[in-house]
Amino acid sequence: MSTLRFHAIKKSLSAKPVPVEEKERRSDIFGKNVFNENSMRQYLTKDAFAGVMNAIQYGKKIDRAIADQVSSSMKDWALSKGVTHYTHWFQPLTGTTAEKHDAFFETIGDGMAIEKFGGSQLVQQEPDASSFPSGGIRNTFEARGYTAWDPTSPAFIYGTTLCIPTIFVAYTGEALDYKTPLLRALQAVDGAATAVCKYFDKNVKKVTSSLGWEQEYFLIDKTLAATRPDIALTGRTLLGHSAAKGQQLDDHYFGSIPSRALNYMRELETECMLLGIPVKTRHNEVAPNQFELAPIFEEANLAVDHNSLLMDIMGRVASRHNFKVLLHEKPFAGINGSGKHNNWSLSTDTGVNLLAPGKTPMSNLQFLTFFINTIKAVNKHEALLRATIASASNDHRLGANEAPPAIISVFIGEQLTKVLEELEGVTKGKLSPQEKTELKLNVVGKIPDVLLDNTDRNRTSPFAFTGNKFEFRAVGSTANCGDPMTVLNTIVAKQLKDFKVEVDKLIDEKGLKKDEAIFNVLREYIKASKRILFEGNGYSEAWEKEAEKRGLSNNKTTPDALKAKISKDSMALFEEMQVMSNIETKARYEIEVEAYIMHIQIEGRVLGDIARNHIVPTAVRYQNTLIENVKGLKEIFDEKFKEVSKEQLNLIEQISNHIESINANVTKMINERKKANAIQEVEKKAQAYCFNVKPLFEDIRYHCDKLELLVDDEIWPLTKYRELLFTR
Ligand code: ADP
Ligand code: MG
Repeated sequence: MSTLRFHAIKKSLSAKPVPVEEKERRSDIFGKNVFNENSMRQYLTKDAFAGVMNAIQYGKKIDRAIADQVSSSMKDWALSKGVTHYTHWFQPLTGTTAEKHDAFFETIGDGMAIEKFGGSQLVQQEPDASSFPSGGIRNTFEARGYTAWDPTSPAFIYGTTLCIPTIFVAYTGEALDYKTPLLRALQAVDGAATAVCKYFDKNVKKVTSSLGWEQEYFLIDKTLAATRPDIALTGRTLLGHSAAKGQQLDDHYFGSIPSRALNYMRELETECMLLGIPVKTRHNEVAPNQFELAPIFEEANLAVDHNSLLMDIMGRVASRHNFKVLLHEKPFAGINGSGKHNNWSLSTDTGVNLLAPGKTPMSNLQFLTFFINTIKAVNKHEALLRATIASASNDHRLGANEAPPAIISVFIGEQLTKVLEELEGVTKGKLSPQEKTELKLNVVGKIPDVLLDNTDRNRTSPFAFTGNKFEFRAVGSTANCGDPMTVLNTIVAKQLKDFKVEVDKLIDEKGLKKDEAIFNVLREYIKASKRILFEGNGYSEAWEKEAEKRGLSNNKTTPDALKAKISKDSMALFEEMQVMSNIETKARYEIEVEAYIMHIQIEGRVLGDIARNHIVPTAVRYQNTLIENVKGLKEIFDEKFKEVSKEQLNLIEQISNHIESINANVTKMINERKKANAIQEVEKKAQAYCFNVKPLFEDIRYHCDKLELLVDDEIWPLTKYRELLFTR
């Protein structure tokens, strides 16, 4: 098999940048394949256009007649662009996107045919989707799920298919996807935030949540990647000795982009432009062959759709450039993994970013209101927020000295820390005129609209305020942003709702003025949320100890972290905010625990197979060569033989020891898997996989990696780290 490795290396060395043409300006092709406002104005009647816009802006229902008009126009638009099929495009809980294509084509008898797409086909479909995960909600025999049009995310064309973003729900109404709870959470935060905004500006009618994600990824030569069963089946390397050179020289970060990769990015960006994904930034990341791509932020639901779509397109474009794109959080040991920072903010329909300091004391009080409420929400629900980023693959990254630790904390910078300290000293109850003036002039009025220390990022903070937005940095690179965004918006919505009640109470019952009431409530919030604020180094042991004292959770593994999703508090929160029923919450929990188990199970099988069927036979082969050599030496040297074959004998013994350890550990792992599989209860089963099966991966890997250093390079079957990471 080693010939496959060398064949692949040879082929990869002759790989050339695939030519790409960018004939048109990006601004000219932007959104060309999207049924956006522009195309809708052209294709829809006035009534239909107004109907869709009302649905987008105010969540109004679209009636049947309008849906018929929209579908027919959508079809005309799509046919004009050479489209033949349509699909409802959705995000089931498998973590990928799903589609099932149907042709517009229909026969009408007498050998005639037409292209048809009616309102009912636009609005609702029933994919035979009984094998998507449902956590027991949907009994495969009784009810099927259906997809329903989400008019807030525009339809788009990919290839020759019209894709219609949809939600995916069971017939009994429960959500089976990422989008449904997200839409509910966005509605919740809109309602609660708009109500709070009215303290400051009566004209605000809507608050939108924004998301700007930063996608990190690796690009590996496709032919080389194909030689590694672990990459093919698990998306990461399960073994492989570190290359002599890794990222220690920092020579890749922000360096010039290698031309093969650059051409890949250019084609990817062109695809994004056509699909209306506003990508803007590209650069090399810290590890060799690691890169990042970031768009301009958008409304959160659209941004989540765009990220899911992007992850799909990334793989397809990569193939045309003879690359395999690795989105896994930790594809290689010993060098940085990949994350997906989620930049989040709230803004009003009057054009105000509620998380940006303003120019007047009143606008700054509004900023502080949203800022402090967000901190309070994160403080209260830190364990739940940690749970939203839990996955088998992200476990490798969190706390691995490159990503934030598994402890959630909030970084706000020196200037805002001072502001909060001042506010903490505000008098209880009514404020004297002097105090009010003092506060307005010297505290609230003095927040600069550019916060200098917030541009100097503390990279270890999982939740950092970066000047005009919060940045949730612990999200994994493979994750669907839907889950973290659902939870973040829900906890903030709940917090703002409570805030409004408390402020109103002080106004109505204690006769406080509006601003006095706000100052009073914020003061208590600051006191209550102090434990979550942390500006220091998140990797340190000292912080772990300190966080424990503060009562912050520190769940290092997915099975432990996920439990927060079904805590009493979390379930009550989701129910109250009408984001998820208890049935939906529990079902999701079950799906995620099961996904964890399957993930580790697959990795265990692949590792066992590679160790036994690839590594051990190769080591034996090399050992036999050594044995032949020793036998020859014995023939030639007679009594001096022991001395001249000392090294070979030593090697033969070392190889035997490693082989023995590999076999013993693989057997142990298989037994632990069997024991785990016999456990009925999923939670306990996940614990068994996490604490009994997974730790053996390291032992097996250790001995395989040692053999990689001993065995003749000529016969080593697996493409090595240096080849995977430094082939450009
Ligand atoms: P970094 O230095 O971490 O790469 P950038 O400032 O370049 O951060 O921004 C990263 C992402 O944050 C981009 O997607 C950007 O559009 C987004 N972003 C900027 N402002 C906001 C905001 N107010 N709300 C949400 N996202 C934002
Ligand atoms: Mg960032």
